[in-house]
Amino acid sequence: VNDLKMHFPLGGALFGERRYVYAVDGLSFRVERGETLSLVGESGCGKSTVGRAILRLLKPTGGQVVLAGKRIDDMGSAKLRPYRRRVQVVFQDPFSSLNPRIRVRDALAEPINNFGLAKDNAELTRKLNMLMDKVGLPREALGRWPHEFSGGQRQRVGIARALAAEPDLIVCDEAVSALDVSVKAQIVNLLGDLQKELGLALLFISHDLAIVEHMTHRVAVMYLGKIAEIGTKRQIFARPRHPYTEALLSAVPTPDPLAKRERIMLKGDVPSPISPPSGCRFHTRCPYAFDRCKSEEPRLREVEKGHEAACHLNDRDAQDNPLLSGARA
Ligand code: SF4
Ligand code: MG
Repeated sequence: VNDLKMHFPLGGALFGERRYVYAVDGLSFRVERGETLSLVGESGCGKSTVGRAILRLLKPTGGQVVLAGKRIDDMGSAKLRPYRRRVQVVFQDPFSSLNPRIRVRDALAEPINNFGLAKDNAELTRKLNMLMDKVGLPREALGRWPHEFSGGQRQRVGIARALAAEPDLIVCDEAVSALDVSVKAQIVNLLGDLQKELGLALLFISHDLAIVEHMTHRVAVMYLGKIAEIGTKRQIFARPRHPYTEALLSAVPTPDPLAKRERIMLKGDVPSPISPPSGCRFHTRCPYAFDRCKSEEPRLREVEKGHEAACHLNDRDAQDNPLLSGARA
């Protein structure tokens, strides 16, 4: 994903000037085969919009989305077809993606038939049985209706339906957020096992850092349509280099009482993506903001290998950088 932009025009011009919602405003990242990249941030930061752009449920208004060397952001629907198979989605509520009047068998058979992945009925049946095995559901359940399943089971069906298309990448948009804690862990473990087995790439969109820490390889933290910080799980959780990441992490409970993090309360609400703040978009809420932050936008730059952050504090020597010394302004 290269400099992705999703700018939505607002209805009605104000004094002859078109206004836009800058939902996604210049975002770049890669996801490799067999890798999980988590996109985290508060609701309204644009993370679901990124997912929809990659799925081409929305057409990007700028930048590029490239899959295995092919640019797909500007493809027409006919050329897009094979790509649609290769990128699948699991949404928060599988009930909304599963038609209540369609049995599980037919819901899973649909992508297999649509994309011509079974040459005859015997192969279709074999694939359906294999999908149920993969997601840990009994084969007999193929004959059931969506409402006959619990939330966790329904999410297994949702994952099976995504897998039915034999994708390279699965976008999981808050895929476990609506589930009970114990079920969450089961579904996250299932996704991890499937990823290892099938070499899938996962884009895991979530506001829940505790879950993300459990299962991701890398993390991109989003704020108001931009990436504030991106790095490996270890870098982001142990050595955050952006005050927004630090604040988000401070709200995550840790099992170790000695490692207890002091909760950082952010001032105010997330500003509107219609007129984002000048300079650093986070300056209206940042506990360390200084003059330069209001006028100059910080660039995303490497702070250590594989770890990038967009904050002016990282231009300072370590002893003057509160992110490194742990002392808050
Ligand atoms: Fe805070 Fe300034 Fe860094 Fe933005 S650039 S995160 S306002 S210190
Ligand atoms: Mg969302």
